[in-house]
Amino acid sequence: MVGDGFKVHNFFPGGTKIGIHRMSPFFLMDYGAKTVFPPSDRPRGVGAHPHRGFETVTIAYHGRVSHHDSAGNSGLIGEGDVQWMTAGSGILHKEYHEKEFSRAGGLMQMVQLWVNLPAAHKMTPPKYQELTHAGMGVHSLPDGAGKVEVIAGEFRGTKGPASTFTPVHLYNAHLKAGATVDFSLPENFNTAMLVIEGAVTVNGTAKAPADHFVLFANEGEAVSIRAEESSVVLVLSGEPIDEPIASYGPFVMNTQKEIMQAVEDFNGGKFGSLDD
Ligand code: MN
Repeated sequence: MVGDGFKVHNFFPGGTKIGIHRMSPFFLMDYGAKTVFPPSDRPRGVGAHPHRGFETVTIAYHGRVSHHDSAGNSGLIGEGDVQWMTAGSGILHKEYHEKEFSRAGGLMQMVQLWVNLPAAHKMTPPKYQELTHAGMGVHSLPDGAGKVEVIAGEFRGTKGPASTFTPVHLYNAHLKAGATVDFSLPENFNTAMLVIEGAVTVNGTAKAPADHFVLFANEGEAVSIRAEESSVVLVLSGEPIDEPIASYGPFVMNTQKEIMQAVEDFNGGKFGSLDD
């Protein structure tokens, strides 16, 4: 559990033991598979905690999450929305089930990605991009095969709304049963996908049911996904950041010295304050 509100499976770096560089610039992927939460008057979630040196990207498939931070920002991440938070030089935030969602209870399904920042931007001022479902780039596939929603980067000329510090493609592919979509992604980018709904066959051979993570080798540009049933697939691909990584809990920096500094700054109150 992350706090008491998010039952997550960590696909990387820990869960798949692929190491901290293999999916660079993505550092971490936590997945909250479909979970039904009973009604609760006290919203479940994770209390105030810091981040420095990277971005957290929260993708909501089901359920609604509220967030507040030490810079006074707050907002709601609803179904189909994405929150792209640049922690940069440091922020405290908390993430909770939205009040009404909590009161009624219901289905929750979320992904949180940590996207690393290059040394030159680790101490950039914190900021948010609230990317609503309605604002995503939408590329309709031929023959009514479905659509690719572009969160970041581009797909066949359709751009996503997120601004990123390094080249990243992030898509939600919604595919009808029997549909196939081909992605052409740079060979040097690190690429993976997560099956959110349904079941797919990858590159003609590998079967991947819902909740499964697929890591692609860096050996070709073409990735083909065939939906065996109506499916939703999250595709992530990014140019690796070729720098050392030092990480400790909620801090992802380049050196151990910078980690010590982050801990010192956090303990010294330099991340601001936020009630639990
Ligand atoms: Mn957080």
